[in-house]
Amino acid sequence: MSTIQPGRVNTPPAHQAPNPAAPVPRTEPSEAFAPGRGEVITDLDRIRQLKQQLESQPDAHIVVSACLAGFNVRYDGGNCNTDNLRTLVESGKAIPVCAEVLGGLSTPRTPSEIQGGDGLQVLQGKARVETKLGQDITDNFTRGADIALKTALQAAAGGQILFAVLKSKSPSCGVGSIYDGGFAGGLKPGDGIATTRFRDAGIDVISSDNWRLATEGEN
Ligand code: SF4
Repeated sequence: MSTIQPGRVNTPPAHQAPNPAAPVPRTEPSEAFAPGRGEVITDLDRIRQLKQQLESQPDAHIVVSACLAGFNVRYDGGNCNTDNLRTLVESGKAIPVCAEVLGGLSTPRTPSEIQGGDGLQVLQGKARVETKLGQDITDNFTRGADIALKTALQAAAGGQILFAVLKSKSPSCGVGSIYDGGFAGGLKPGDGIATTRFRDAGIDVISSDNWRLATEGEN
């Protein structure tokens, strides 16, 4: 696992930087995508128990949104650092991925939101992702979600991925609610595209808001 410098990282580490020469299987829009097998975990006591399990189980890993671990990958060039997640990355227990960077988008970038649905409907070909300027960048988001899942599975190297902690409200990483497409901070029900991909692969997910509530003050 690479060492990171939260707040100062401009170059994604290896597991965030896709090799452009490597063929990546694409997810074609498909009706076959259905609500995921991975669970949305909201119970704060359960989240605390899972954190303890992660720390005591040597082969266990989690996936985290890279911005939560201090990487400057947000659309505005910043991050949403959460100290205990950054610590888990530094200790090799958490795998940071940013689906939007992995999908080929630059940092900083124009904000984007899902129009006409949620992450599931994007993967079913029924909704799209547009920038605030109206550019359709659905392909970047779906490709990035695919690569994020593949990257996480490779980095876990056969060990168990206990769960993923993903940034609330994001069109990629949102859990249970996402920005509504109006670019004014409004929300609608649904998961982001990468979150849908992780749940489809059977990975349980926790929103960053619930993680913070459950683990506030813990390292
Ligand atoms: S919310 Fe997800 S896609 Fe957005 S910057 Fe954070 S890791 Fe990247």
